[in-house]
Amino acid sequence: MQRRGLLYVVSAPSGAGKTSLCKAIIDILPNLRHSVSHTTRSPRTGEVDGRDYHFVSKAEFDAMVTEGAFVEWALVHGNFYGTAVSSLESGRSGGCDLLLEIDCQGAAQLKERCPDAIFIFVLPPSFQELERRLKGRQTDTAEVIEQRLHNARIEMREMFWYDYLVINDNFDLASQQLQAILAATACRTEVLKDQVQCLFGEIGP
Ligand code: 5GP
Repeated sequence: MQRRGLLYVVSAPSGAGKTSLCKAIIDILPNLRHSVSHTTRSPRTGEVDGRDYHFVSKAEFDAMVTEGAFVEWALVHGNFYGTAVSSLESGRSGGCDLLLEIDCQGAAQLKERCPDAIFIFVLPPSFQELERRLKGRQTDTAEVIEQRLHNARIEMREMFWYDYLVINDNFDLASQQLQAILAATACRTEVLKDQVQCLFGEIGP
């Protein structure tokens, strides 16, 4: 008997290492897939439409909002991002667990609409380390880095309503913690209940 796929929602301030962590565990766990979001931002070098994002125009995005096609959507750093209901349903009904890398605004909407989802917040070890990482990327101007640090302080206020916190100081340890969260979730009684009943039939109290 196949169980319905689980939903894991991961948020983090920019520079905390969320994307690398998510990629690492998707490479390790065969039943876990990245949920492909829709966005109005332009593709970056190396990004592939349909794999990294579904890249759409603002008009297409607006039409999807009007149709109610998104389970959540938000304006993040000047671009629109959203998770389509169809992306979630096709993955979950096939038994695949889905990892959603989305911002706190979208995560809060999902908390309302998908209360069975698991919410994980990834933190940098300190603001000093976050600043060091953002500067080390050498992709942003000093002004953009300041903005990202400012945004990080605001985003981190949200962490307390998430189910789990992962402090990404040591990458391997953070990746193990993330795997442990996923493994423990998959063993929850409410997750395994139907499967166990198929194996053993009704077991009375
Ligand atoms: P990037 O453009 O760097 O890939 O992502 C920028 C931000 O948008 C990140 O914080 C990322 O988690 C967030 N994001 C990506 N996809 C979604 C989505 O579908 N919904 C929401 N709310 N945020 C998203």
